[in-house]
Amino acid sequence: MVLMIDVAVIGAGGAGIAAARALRDAGLAVQLLEARQRVGGRAYTDSTTLGVPADLGAAWLHFADENRWTGIARAQGRRIIERDPGWGARGLVGGRVPDDASRADSEAGFERCWSLLEAAAEGGLDVPVSRLLADEPFRRRFDAVMTWIMGVESCAVSSLDIARYADSNADWAVAEGLGSVIAGAAEGLAVSLDTTVTAIDWDDDGVRITTSRGLVEARAAIVTLPTSVLAREAIRFTPPLPAAHRNAIESLPLGSNNKVFFRFDDADLPWHEPTHCLVHADRSRTVHFGIRSADQPLVMTYFGGDLSRELEAQGGLAEYARDALVQCFGHELSTRIRATLVTGWDADPFAGGSYSAALPGCATQREVLATPVSPRLHFAGEACDVHHYGTLHGAWLSGTQAAERLIDTLRRSP
Ligand SMILES: Cc1cc2nc3c(=O)[nH]c(=O)nc-3n(C[C@H](O)[C@H](O)[C@H](O)COP(=O)(O)OP(=O)(O)OC[C@H]3O[C@@H](n4cnc5c(N)ncnc54)[C@H](O)[C@@H]3O)c2cc1C
Repeated sequence: MVLMIDVAVIGAGGAGIAAARALRDAGLAVQLLEARQRVGGRAYTDSTTLGVPADLGAAWLHFADENRWTGIARAQGRRIIERDPGWGARGLVGGRVPDDASRADSEAGFERCWSLLEAAAEGGLDVPVSRLLADEPFRRRFDAVMTWIMGVESCAVSSLDIARYADSNADWAVAEGLGSVIAGAAEGLAVSLDTTVTAIDWDDDGVRITTSRGLVEARAAIVTLPTSVLAREAIRFTPPLPAAHRNAIESLPLGSNNKVFFRFDDADLPWHEPTHCLVHADRSRTVHFGIRSADQPLVMTYFGGDLSRELEAQGGLAEYARDALVQCFGHELSTRIRATLVTGWDADPFAGGSYSAALPGCATQREVLATPVSPRLHFAGEACDVHHYGTLHGAWLSGTQAAERLIDTLRRSP
């Protein structure tokens, strides 16, 4: 069966949902084509396994006061936890409260590293972060934090990309789970689940899309697949994509991040407020605990970079997280774990990792990926946003911008 529509949006994650909402609101016939049996992509709340909501992917509304998803969560009546999560130098290290001197050292060290990154960016340098920080005594601590934040080791990430990332101090969680907000935002949209796109034939008049459920013909398409999935050529483009877009896709691979959740009975968790703990502060192969981050009796272990990738491949994430918990807080706490939930984002065929990190020398490839392939074929997704990549609000911005460009094109040439 051939489906005829105005715009096909491929992938129903944050970017695809944002694009589809904008296109629908402009009065266009739009269809989301989604390979999974659910919407949300890398934002997904599992509310059943642990008996409380657990965000397996995106959990934080970064830039929360300006983030479009915050307004959507409010409109859905969610309980947004407008509280500073207390990251940075204020968390525990190795299970202990650092003394004032080491906190001050840590704050000063981060400032020095950021200044080096910013100065290099202003000078137009784009090199591996590790090279820029080679002589910085704080380098190991910087790596300990940035590796799990970025999902890659500092030798494999562009200094300019990190310097361009726009941060704010407003990071809020959602009690019902951020993934639930994204899924709720797709309500009322035309979504075809379990529909894997395998080929797109495109020209100046439109697109012909081959899916696991048949053909779709549309006047235009927005492709929002993660870059690592595109790089595997999960979709065959005819004619092939221009070299510039292929290069951009290769230059913006996804890093590796994973989570291990431990569920406790409420009374068994000795912390009553959200608490953070970095297990080792002197190496990139470390993990971070987020305790009661969204007010649930959960300890979430966050892995990033090589450690995350290797342990996922070996099936060793849960054991490592449990050992780290014992090391920081003692064996007794580990005997009170009621249930465990482990993610596997690298092996997920529709994700292939966590979020994009530009290779050294490649920060400007984000703009290239966001440039329309043709007036009727566009890419969107977190990897396309220069300042908000790796986030849901970046996905929103990118999806909305691609939709607005297409609305304009289709109005001018019906
Ligand atoms: C562990 C982890 C923690 C994170 N933490 C945060 C956080 O706290 N805050 C934050 O803002 N962001 C966070 N992120 C990043 C955030 O989840 C992503 O940036 C965002 O969800 C990306 O949205 P997207 O629409 O660009 O891509 P995706 O959500 O990946 O959407 C792409 C969609 O395409 C579908 N697809 C793939 N292949 C095909 C195909 N062949 N045919 C059809 N459909 C296909 C996928 O199933 C998916 O639904 C985190 C991510 C991870 C993995």
